[in-house]
Amino acid sequence: MEKILIIGGGISGLTTAYWLDKKGLDVTVIEKENRGGGSIRTEKDSGYLIECGPNSTLDTFVEIDDLCKDLGIFKDKIDASDNAKNRYVVRDGRLRPLPTGPLQFITTDLWSIQGKLRLMCEPFIKKYNGSSDETIAQFVVRRTGQEFLDYAIDPFVTGVFAGDPSRLSLKSCFPKMYSLEQDYGGLLKGGIFGKRKKTEPKRKMKLISFVNGLQTIPDTISKILGDRFIKGSSVTSLRMDRDNRFEVTCQDVKYKEVFRCDKVIFATPAWVTAGIVQPLSETLAAALKQIEYVPVVIIFTGYGRKKIKHPLDGFGFLIPSKESKKTGYNILGSIWSSTVFPGRAGAGNVAFTNILGGGRKPDILKYDDKELLDMTLMDLNAILGINEQPDFIRIIRQPMAIPQYTIGHQDRIDVIKRELAKIKAFTSQEIILTEFQ
Ligand SMILES: Cc1cc2nc3c(=O)[nH]c(=O)nc-3n(C[C@H](O)[C@H](O)[C@H](O)COP(=O)(O)OP(=O)(O)OC[C@H]3O[C@@H](n4cnc5c(N)ncnc54)[C@H](O)[C@@H]3O)c2cc1C
Repeated sequence: MEKILIIGGGISGLTTAYWLDKKGLDVTVIEKENRGGGSIRTEKDSGYLIECGPNSTLDTFVEIDDLCKDLGIFKDKIDASDNAKNRYVVRDGRLRPLPTGPLQFITTDLWSIQGKLRLMCEPFIKKYNGSSDETIAQFVVRRTGQEFLDYAIDPFVTGVFAGDPSRLSLKSCFPKMYSLEQDYGGLLKGGIFGKRKKTEPKRKMKLISFVNGLQTIPDTISKILGDRFIKGSSVTSLRMDRDNRFEVTCQDVKYKEVFRCDKVIFATPAWVTAGIVQPLSETLAAALKQIEYVPVVIIFTGYGRKKIKHPLDGFGFLIPSKESKKTGYNILGSIWSSTVFPGRAGAGNVAFTNILGGGRKPDILKYDDKELLDMTLMDLNAILGINEQPDFIRIIRQPMAIPQYTIGHQDRIDVIKRELAKIKAFTSQEIILTEFQ
């Protein structure tokens, strides 16, 4: 039977391994750390549940439910609280709820009357016919105006990519938005006519996690895979052996031999993959290296509920870059973790997951813990009026945290796909990159 190796035991590597294993294939995962999950890391301390990476995910696809049922963890799945429906954006130092319906759209003070009128012109804006990749900022300003970029899309892009909309590619980051314009001539037209064509039943997307945090999924799969999940071993390079099989070298603590296999699936960050595939293809490695990553710092703060006057009636808030420049805020935003998933902070306490860094402050790692905490507390004080010290603090530094699909990303993906096809043609063996399938 063909031997399949998956490099990287984050959520991509582990879920791929799980489904392949279920199909009866011979699959092994090699993971650098002594735990599975990669960016997903849940810790518990002093009654708080801390998500060191993602806090929740959208159950966009029915496959997520299927996976949870299959793994026996469906009963542990929890939906975000209804109280987390409000999402706030900071404007002129004040939290303003993002409108959730047409009436709120008219009455909101998040955008000026001019901004709203400009947004209403969207259906009359011509479709972009240029051949060059447009940034998110160019697209949004062209179709909906500067104010909608500044106080809706910019904070949204910060929330998803921790990135800068004036550098990210629309087509690569929001392919659906790109298609709405290309296929229907605009966002509103696409929203109306695109919906009519759909035959699939509408799925209500919910933000989900688990009673014991997102780590539940990788932990459960790790147990199922047993000794086919090799932890604490770092793959360093890949080449073809004399029998035309892949020879994978590990610089390891536990796994000392060279691993031979017929198919390799990479579930590692692009810059890691670049280093490993270099002996096979310089071009492939060069294209992978061009994919930028930004650092993120999470400052998790916990307080006794009585110390906080704000009702914390929402998911949290995001700060637009324009406001950061104007006022000197350092955090990108704050998730009110104990509102989103009650139970994250223990009885009588509340928890905040504050995020710093990203494309807006790529030098964030140069600050020491005290400086980072001071920046966070100053912003929480200015925006939420919290002037008390937290009872619980946890600082998590993530140097290469989030990939940035900057302008030209699709060209890089095309090069990557071409190089992978060449390797397959020359060797009849296949390399698969989970991110690009
Ligand atoms: C701070 C933060 C917040 C986020 N928030 C959200 C959110 O709220 N919702 C959401 O849906 N997504 C969120 N994301 C994105 C989400 O976490 C990632 O898209 C997802 O976890 C990536 O999983 P992955 O398995 O592809 O990669 P990773 O999790 O990066 O896993 C890669 C694995 O490869 C391993 N590895 C690296 N080098 C080697 C090597 N040489 N040999 C062997 N193994 C190696 C690593 O140790 C790691 O385990 C967030 C990400 C971050 C960083």
